[in-house]
Amino acid sequence: MEILFITNDSSLKIPPLEKDRITLLPSNQFNIKSAENCSAIIIDQRISETKNVLIEIRQSQSDIVALKPVFIFSHKEISDIEIQCLADGRTNLQELSEILYSADRISKLTTTLKELKTENFQTLVILRILRFLYAREMQLKPLLSPKYRYGYVYPFAISQFKDIEDFRIYEILARMEKEGLLIGNFYDRVHFCNRCHSAFMNFREICPSCKSANLSVENVIHHFRCGYTAQESKFMQGEQLICPKCNSILRHIGTDYEKPSTIFICHSCQETFQEPLVECFCFYCTNRTPVEETVSWDIKTYEISPAGINCAINGIIFSFAEFLKTQLELVEYDNFKRIVEIEIERKKRYKRDSSIGSFRVTNFQEMYLMIGERKNEIGLEMARIIKEALRTTDVITVLNESTFLILFLETPVTGANTALSRIKTNIEKLLVNNISTPDKKFLPEISIAAVKVEEFSLTNLLPE
Ligand SMILES: [Zn+2]
Ligand SMILES: [Zn+2]
Ligand SMILES: [Zn+2]
Repeated sequence: MEILFITNDSSLKIPPLEKDRITLLPSNQFNIKSAENCSAIIIDQRISETKNVLIEIRQSQSDIVALKPVFIFSHKEISDIEIQCLADGRTNLQELSEILYSADRISKLTTTLKELKTENFQTLVILRILRFLYAREMQLKPLLSPKYRYGYVYPFAISQFKDIEDFRIYEILARMEKEGLLIGNFYDRVHFCNRCHSAFMNFREICPSCKSANLSVENVIHHFRCGYTAQESKFMQGEQLICPKCNSILRHIGTDYEKPSTIFICHSCQETFQEPLVECFCFYCTNRTPVEETVSWDIKTYEISPAGINCAINGIIFSFAEFLKTQLELVEYDNFKRIVEIEIERKKRYKRDSSIGSFRVTNFQEMYLMIGERKNEIGLEMARIIKEALRTTDVITVLNESTFLILFLETPVTGANTALSRIKTNIEKLLVNNISTPDKKFLPEISIAAVKVEEFSLTNLLPE
């Protein structure tokens, strides 16, 4: 079974060319297991479960299922914004071969992806978004929706949350851009309520003294002869303008009087003033706030960066190298191996022990994501701990995203183990104290090992 077509319409005539690839399935027989083995899914929009099926697919635990190409079978444009966000697009019987072509491309790219095991929800969301964009070779474009609380909605990305109106999606996308995983391009600027983040707000002018919005604006009249100045309504008597101070009739603008400015009048407290305040009133939570205190947010379109593509393929968000390279002198792994060979020769001649140690944080991704904003500060401190435990002649290399190796010159295995234990204890302390939150204690999973330099091999040092 290649393409699963969920429909209750048995009279559909699938074009002969695609017939062999498509299996029709009544909606009551669909379960998420059946989605695992197909390369794409088509859902007939006429079935009542369309949205639920889409949500179940997009929120699946498995990337393979969640990233599946899913098309909506419909002769009309899809108007439901949620369905637009969840599906890859629309098709009908005539356009079938086109969508099958793009479905093939998407599933070819997704099958090569490595699964990432993590409990961290944000990590999963980040990786899903990257993989979605990578497999579809497309940009993430916000859709305009007046029904949606924030005015703009990001297709697919938002499907990863239980609540389609979860504001965290904006924060995650902004963070992914900051981390260099996405490239953002300005699209629009919106103002959100500073209490509930709603974009549905009323901007209005209010009275500075009683805060009422019941204002009107009038011309100010200046009577030249007596110098009296007041709003126009004070001069109005029927059709005529009569000065309330000296009772003269004002006939000609420019000779009798002028209109130098306008003035606001509050109909609640009768106050007059030149400059009203501007306030925002939130239709969602009735919060009232000065304009400058609303949340100004840049809405962007996003495309995946080369670093993002690397992440998408390998299921890795960042690596030790990224973390430590500014502070420690790291050598490339190939050079490290060459130095080790020289050291083995030297040892044969001078009979001095050297050893090689490994240091691995198995839950590195989770750690990295929990560190978040404090990356530089904590990276600096980790580098300091490592530096302190080593001598300047020791050589460090980063083996992979979560492991680094150290060549301890003229140090036997016991000495290497002492240094590694010291690094491990201090880094554990640093991480536990700094990245645990009140509701979640972070426990770094660190493993260390050391072998004699002449026994160095990755299998010796890093048994699975
Ligand atoms: Zn609000
Ligand atoms: Zn007032
Ligand atoms: Zn006058």
